[in-house]
Amino acid sequence: MREIFKGIKGVLIEENFPLSKISSIGIGGKIRYLIKIKNKNSLPFVKEIVEKEKMKYVFIGKLTNMLFPEGLLEGMAIQYQEAYFEQLEKDPPIIKVGAGISLTNLILKLQNLSIYGLEPLIGIPGSLGGAIKMNAGAFGVSISDFLSEIEVFSFKEGFKILKKEEVNFGYRYSSFKDEELIVGAILIVKKENQKYLIEEYLKKRNEKFPKGKSLGCVFKNPNNLSAGKLIEKAGLKNFNVGDAVISDKHANFIINRKKARFLDVYELIQIVKERVYKKFGVLLEEEIKIVDI
Ligand SMILES: Cc1cc2nc3c(=O)[nH]c(=O)nc-3n(C[C@H](O)[C@H](O)[C@H](O)COP(=O)(O)OP(=O)(O)OC[C@H]3O[C@@H](n4cnc5c(N)ncnc54)[C@H](O)[C@@H]3O)c2cc1C
Repeated sequence: MREIFKGIKGVLIEENFPLSKISSIGIGGKIRYLIKIKNKNSLPFVKEIVEKEKMKYVFIGKLTNMLFPEGLLEGMAIQYQEAYFEQLEKDPPIIKVGAGISLTNLILKLQNLSIYGLEPLIGIPGSLGGAIKMNAGAFGVSISDFLSEIEVFSFKEGFKILKKEEVNFGYRYSSFKDEELIVGAILIVKKENQKYLIEEYLKKRNEKFPKGKSLGCVFKNPNNLSAGKLIEKAGLKNFNVGDAVISDKHANFIINRKKARFLDVYELIQIVKERVYKKFGVLLEEEIKIVDI
């Protein structure tokens, strides 16, 4: 089967790759093909293979917000890794950047150029592509606040440039389609946004969030309420299924304390939803992406 990828430049292929190795919660089965895209010119060839072989695919970033089942997973996990960084304009600073860059690296590169604004997002452990798809945010700031254009490669229509206005962004939501791989973006970073220094945001994050293997916040905050507080008030701090446990520091985090399995986390999520609904009449919605491939 590996033959099908022969001759494509700018991709690295791993066969039967255990996703648990790269998932931030340490859970996930062996994906038939992990396709690491180093160069966007390879994408039309990957698309051709997907069509010819009728292969299922899913895009992954740094796997800090995705939960995969165990076992053998058919299809491809496509990870876009290109991470170029270019300053197009000085005032206001306009930056062109590859979706494979980590948010932390991006913010540090901006800091080196004395460009400030994205600091509240420091410490979110994902890639820019994953952050744009999730419209990741922290301390009242979201990645979409800085977007001007997004380049995508659609597995139906090929390359497209979308203006920010052509995409719907909401709280941990964007309207990108399942077949649209985010490959890059143009950001406008206004200097006056800086409120605290990077170190201060990291300190706040350390005070607020637990350590250990997790996917960050499992549930979205429902209208003006804190999902973590609701879970806490439902008496679920420290509640566990197997090795999956609700953090006692922040109840919206599920921690894999050792050998948690997909089904442990999944069952725990159902229990939380049921208990919170029974107690408060609020139906929590998952922020994390539970993958069915
Ligand atoms: C300890 C911890 C703390 C966290 N804190 C925060 C926080 O403060 N705020 C916050 O918003 N999130 C937080 N998260 C969640 C997560 O880090 C963010 O959602 C992050 O932006 C996801 O990026 P990723 O690269 O890991 O994406 P993944 O988890 O790999 O993917 C997430 C989604 O994006 C899609 N995707 C990934 N890359 C692309 C691409 N190039 N094109 C199209 N779709 C793509 C995937 O298909 C999936 O649907 C935290 C997670 C952890 C583990």
